[in-house]
Order: sequence, then C-alpha cells, then structure tokens
Amino acid sequence: MNKKILILIVFLTSCRSSIFLAAEDSGPKNTIEDRVGGPLWIQRGDMPFIITVPHGGPLTVNGVEIRKKGTIITDIRTLELVELLNDLFIKIFSRKPYIVASRISRKYIDFNRSRECALEDPQLNTLYDEYHASIERAGDEIRRNFSCGLLIDIHGQSAERSAIFLGTNDTVTIEQLTKRRGNEVWKGDQSLAALFEKYGYTTFPSSDDLTSKEDERYNGGYTVQRHGINNPHGIDAIQLEIGLKYRYTVEEREKFGQDLAQVLMHYYELYFLPKL
Ligand SMILES: [Zn+2]
Repeated sequence: MNKKILILIVFLTSCRSSIFLAAEDSGPKNTIEDRVGGPLWIQRGDMPFIITVPHGGPLTVNGVEIRKKGTIITDIRTLELVELLNDLFIKIFSRKPYIVASRISRKYIDFNRSRECALEDPQLNTLYDEYHASIERAGDEIRRNFSCGLLIDIHGQSAERSAIFLGTNDTVTIEQLTKRRGNEVWKGDQSLAALFEKYGYTTFPSSDDLTSKEDERYNGGYTVQRHGINNPHGIDAIQLEIGLKYRYTVEEREKFGQDLAQVLMHYYELYFLPKL
C-alpha cells in the first residue's frame, strides 16, 4: 500500500472518532482571535491543547459589587503559573497551546460555575459568554485542524498543599480519549498521574489506584462538565487542582512550571500525535 495512504489511515483510526466527525460536520465554523490585554487573556494556539484558568485573576471591576454568594477566593498564582507554562511551551517546544484565562477576580465572577451561580451583576453576562464561547471556538478549531485534543482546566487548592488532584468526573469528561487509546491514558505507568509521579509529585487518584473514585471536592467542575467530550461540541477535558506548594513563590512556580510543561508535552506526544 502506498505509504502516504497507510499513514493517513493510521492517523484517522488513531485520532478521529464518530463523535468528532459528527461535531465537525455540524459544528459552527467560528475562529478564535488573540486577546492580550483586558479582562480575558485569549490565545489562539498551534497545538490541540486548551488551557483554561478561571480563578487566578486579580482585577477588580468598577461599578460591580463583590458577589454575596459562593466562593470568592482566588486560586492564588494560577494565572502566573500558566503565563510561565505558556512561555516554556513556546521556548522549549516551539508550540503554543490555546489559552482562555480570566484576569478578573473571582470576587466578581466565577467562570467555573453555571451562569446563575457565576455572577450577580448582569453587566458581567457578556464577559461570561465570551469566556465560554472562546473555549468552544478553540474546540471547534482543534476539531477542524487536529481532530482530537485536550482541555486542561487549571486550579489551585490548599487542602493538600503537596498534591495534585485530577478531575474528570471519573473519566466521563475524557470518554473519547479512553475509547481511543484505552484505560492506559488514565491508569498505569503511561497515565497522566504516572507522568507527574515520575517528576516526584503525588496525585489523586494515583497511577496505580485502579479502583477508587476521584476526590469529590476536585473531581471536575463546571468547565470540564460543560466543555468535556460528553457534550455535543466538547473536547476531552481534565481539571488539575494544584497544591499551594507548587505555585506560591516564584521559585516554586518556576520549578513546577518546568515539570508541568514536560509532563503535558509528554502526554501530548503519547496520546495526541498521530500514531505512525
Ligand atoms: Zn479553582
């Protein structure tokens, strides 16, 4: 068989799926545009990863009151961590992930909640829509250009300062990835947890924890539920809850940022490149 045709067939069987094809055929043809300044940081990528950061923003909003209900605590330094991560991806790998990040404080809007819980001032409705529409546009582009991809929703937690919680609603939001490449993507020595463990990090669930459920506090919130692959226009999606120890000081962030870049790029090479 012609080698090019063979490679194409392998690529189609390794990466495409009926869900992706259905979404691609019927989906909107929106494109995503870079936005550097302002309340949202939006970056058009050149690889099939979307990194979202809903809770790291420091900005106040004039004329809008602080929310009276729900959590208003910042996931401290997660925005700075992703800025560093993005720089490292560009510098080390010459690749740019898609990014949708909030610079607005969670005191005013929580992008990782349904609209009813996310905001109390209707002035912020447009911003809320833009954040989630940007994720959808990025997903649309990835389906068109790469066929398969991954959303990584970055959060910070301080309950277990030296741990990283992985959240997928017990693999519901990565259903396509597990169907495409098997359970090894989530358990065992080629899983995302195992890649973190190789760099000395503790994850929940761990790579060899084959039976337990994800921690209910951190098993995947609104973003991965809304944009995960279990939705008509979704993409495989994982929530990462990163312990405070790895993001608070510049030195901690730089060390963790380097390791996180390596882990994510290794995961990309394992499961998001065409099999040749
Ligand atoms: Zn968070």
